[in-house]
Amino acid sequence: MEDLDHRVNVAIIGAGWAGMAAAVTLAQARIPVTVFEAARHLGGRARSVEIEGIELDNGQHIMIGAYRETLRVMRVVGADPDQLLLRQPLAIEYPGKFSLRAPRLPAPLHLIAALLTAGGLTWGERMAATRFMTAMRRNAYRIATDMPVSELLALYRQSGALARYLWEPLCVSALNTPAAAASAQIFLNLFRDALDGARANSDFLIPRADLGKLFPQPAAAFVRANGGSVLLGTSVRTLAEAADGFALDDRPGRYTHAIVAVGPHQIDALLDRFAALASTRQLVAAFDYEPIYTCYLQYPPQVSMPQAMTGFDGGIIQWIFDRGRLSGTAGLLAAVISARGAHQILSQDAVANAMHRELAAFLPGLLQPLWSRVIAEKRATFSCRPGVARPENKTAVSNLYLAGDYTASDYPATLESAVRSGVLAARLVLARERSR
Ligand SMILES: Cc1cc2nc3c(=O)[nH]c(=O)nc-3n(C[C@H](O)[C@H](O)[C@H](O)COP(=O)(O)OP(=O)(O)OC[C@H]3O[C@@H](n4cnc5c(N)ncnc54)[C@H](O)[C@@H]3O)c2cc1C
Repeated sequence: MEDLDHRVNVAIIGAGWAGMAAAVTLAQARIPVTVFEAARHLGGRARSVEIEGIELDNGQHIMIGAYRETLRVMRVVGADPDQLLLRQPLAIEYPGKFSLRAPRLPAPLHLIAALLTAGGLTWGERMAATRFMTAMRRNAYRIATDMPVSELLALYRQSGALARYLWEPLCVSALNTPAAAASAQIFLNLFRDALDGARANSDFLIPRADLGKLFPQPAAAFVRANGGSVLLGTSVRTLAEAADGFALDDRPGRYTHAIVAVGPHQIDALLDRFAALASTRQLVAAFDYEPIYTCYLQYPPQVSMPQAMTGFDGGIIQWIFDRGRLSGTAGLLAAVISARGAHQILSQDAVANAMHRELAAFLPGLLQPLWSRVIAEKRATFSCRPGVARPENKTAVSNLYLAGDYTASDYPATLESAVRSGVLAARLVLARERSR
């Protein structure tokens, strides 16, 4: 190996999935890295939290088979996706209303077969869905001008149950933005990778362990084992250029490179000493944000849902995850609401009560939960609207890079866009140094 490690010394600010993916990529190349994390825990917006003595998550997450970089970096740090994730062929179930299951056929036949056999669609809706898919495929999933998902659906007559139980829930879950506001092009990018790649790309991958174990914790162990440091409870307030590299606050050390991997709403103070980054700060300041609410409801152990993930409509719950089926915490349900909505004006108790009532209507005889807890992540992701300009990983300042789910990508803000951005920022450091 070349002696890059004697010249290079990288500071990474933020230990979310983007920062840790950058750190792992550099540590793999034996580059000295120091990760600074303000919180006392790893993982940022996808982290473990302890509730009632149980390791849970700040929010229920789901991945898809197309998350190739996330699955790759998990393997690099020894977190086995086959053990840690429940892999299910694409299946959407709104009990008594809609049901779609992809058979084990090659793509895109699996989706066409799923649409043609879906329960709850009229024959006309099935044909409309197949025509929509064929048209998108013919155009290589590109539209000339971006528009809201709901406009694209209207153009291709995707209405009724098709919109209500398939496209709109997929859009809200994947882009965390309501279909009336979400970018159709970003939706189609995911559609392309998930539904028109290998059949396994459309599989749902639902965590069986808490989020920390999936990547952030083994990633930190990997970085430390390869000579790097991960410092928790260490907020960086200022980042500045110095004659001998980058200086962080008034710390004595200097870093040849810096990767800023904080959330978009946390970035401004870290970039304000760089005049060349004024336009980057403006781009990010223009973002709008969407919340995600997760409510854990603990029922007696015999309570369970018919499957690991069930769609709900007509109330405030969008999806229910049965954590008993997923991670053995019998009777524990996680109810999820993505994106903005009327639930935001309710108190957390009112949200939990409304969710219990919706569950009780589905599971007759359901008693009050033993406990419940709402976690409202108010700025879960940026609002993924048509034409949102996102900053590149490479900045106008030499050796200073950005990583995070909000940076330029053809994906919405997801674990996969976070991981890809971190890997890319690290590879930019490596490429630049190797070319010297
Ligand atoms: C409730 C919820 C549910 C979600 N569900 C899904 C899902 O199902 N599937 C999916 O793919 N994605 C989902 N997402 C999105 C996904 O979690 C995010 O896209 C991803 O975690 C973002 O990672 P990141 O590293 O870019 O940013 P972050 O996770 O925000 O990491 C930034 C880190 O920087 C730290 N930091 C900030 N300022 C400083 C500072 N000055 N000094 C030091 N450290 C600092 C922060 O503490 C944080 O740890 C969900 C998000 C939420 C909140």
